[in-house]
Amino acid sequence: MHTIDLRGRTHTSAELLALVPRAAVDVAVASEAASALIDEVRVGGSEALLAQADRFDGGRPPALRVPAAEIAEAVSTLDPAVRRALEETIRRVRLASTAQVPPNTVTEIGPGARIRQRWQPIARVGLYVPGGKAVYPSSVVMNVVPAQVAGVTSIALVSPPQRDHGSHVHPVVLAAAGLLGIDEVYAMGGAGAIGALAYGVDDLGLEPVQLVTGPGNVYVAAAKRLIRGQAGIDAEAGPTDILVIADAAADARLVAADLISQAEHDELAAAVLVTDSTELADAVVAEVERQVALTTHRERVTAALTGEQSAVVLVDDLDAAAAFSNAFGPEHLEIQTTDAEAVLAGIQNAGAIFLGPHSPVSLGDYAAGSNHVLPTGGQARFAAGLNAATFLRSQQVVEYTKDGLSDVAESIAALSATEALPAHGDAVVARFS
Ligand code: NAD
Repeated sequence: MHTIDLRGRTHTSAELLALVPRAAVDVAVASEAASALIDEVRVGGSEALLAQADRFDGGRPPALRVPAAEIAEAVSTLDPAVRRALEETIRRVRLASTAQVPPNTVTEIGPGARIRQRWQPIARVGLYVPGGKAVYPSSVVMNVVPAQVAGVTSIALVSPPQRDHGSHVHPVVLAAAGLLGIDEVYAMGGAGAIGALAYGVDDLGLEPVQLVTGPGNVYVAAAKRLIRGQAGIDAEAGPTDILVIADAAADARLVAADLISQAEHDELAAAVLVTDSTELADAVVAEVERQVALTTHRERVTAALTGEQSAVVLVDDLDAAAAFSNAFGPEHLEIQTTDAEAVLAGIQNAGAIFLGPHSPVSLGDYAAGSNHVLPTGGQARFAAGLNAATFLRSQQVVEYTKDGLSDVAESIAALSATEALPAHGDAVVARFS
């Protein structure tokens, strides 16, 4: 990991961001391919999806719609330890997701003037569970549970067919779906699957969804961008990142382990340590070297940690550390300092925040109860991670009495005249003539 010394100088947010640039993932380039794949599915339906599976996933699935019996079998043959782990994760994510549902409110604006705000679930959603280079049963839980908690009644789940499993969806992905009561699962992946969800597939009986969520590779991200408008989407997911703010009191061994754990995802993953202690910085660098030599995905981790997107950043104090983090907008932020709460108070931008030495990011990846589908690439500066509210829309219900309306009739007339829209004012006057 290279070191960037910011001590003794102040920087703008743009300068800070430029110092540790995220790895370039060109969604725009993938967009052309994604657009063609979506068009193929819109024209060719099931046959196009089968041909795409053959082309990208190493074979045609025996059935695009996974039969209910296959889901039931995946549940009944699931390794008991994995089943217990999934059930516990589901329980925790359900608890935390339930707390995310905003309350309906009634606001009395004045006598006879009331605005209600009610949260309505989206009727039908499509959830993408990736499955190109690895499979992610945990992502089934992270997508499905907040949707169910929000009250979504129709859920379609897609995941690429697996070459090593006879071009079926991975059995543990199916088992996770089965444990959650999801029975509409399709063996399809990439841009074609996103197009299928957004536009529907007649000859498969796949009805279009109104929202598509879930992580995926650059083709999935490009496709989500393309279908936006036809359906809603959650934040785009790119290569993962972690930023650790640590002071001299942090345990270098744990900080190094956490940086490596995120670097394990992807050669393009970013792992950044920001600290006011040169001793800790040196100790973490030494620990990273020691631990990388022992880790399974050594080459991938080394590529991620030596890329320009990863760094050790030296700052004057923890306020400067928070300023750097806010500019970076990490997907995962760990705070390992003597007073983590004080640092937290200065944090504005982060997908999820992990406080103290016993809250590593891997806890959040699997079993904390928080959601692991988080905004990457600095999108945490404006976007939130997946949560129950992602699947809800607020609606304002306007309810005025005649007296309530009369109190604002003059204001409406004045404003509508100013905007040269007199019929607006007339519609109010009509109530009183
Ligand atoms: P994926 O399911 O996103 O992509 C596989 C699909 O990509 C294939 O089915 C195929 O349709 C398509 N594809 C492959 N090569 C293509 C090509 N040359 N042209 C067009 N389409 C092509 O699975 P993946 O590739 O393993 O990527 C998953 C990503 O999701 C990883 O980056 C991973 O880190 C990320 N992820 C993120 C989270 C999170 O919560 N943020 C969770 C899990 C996974």
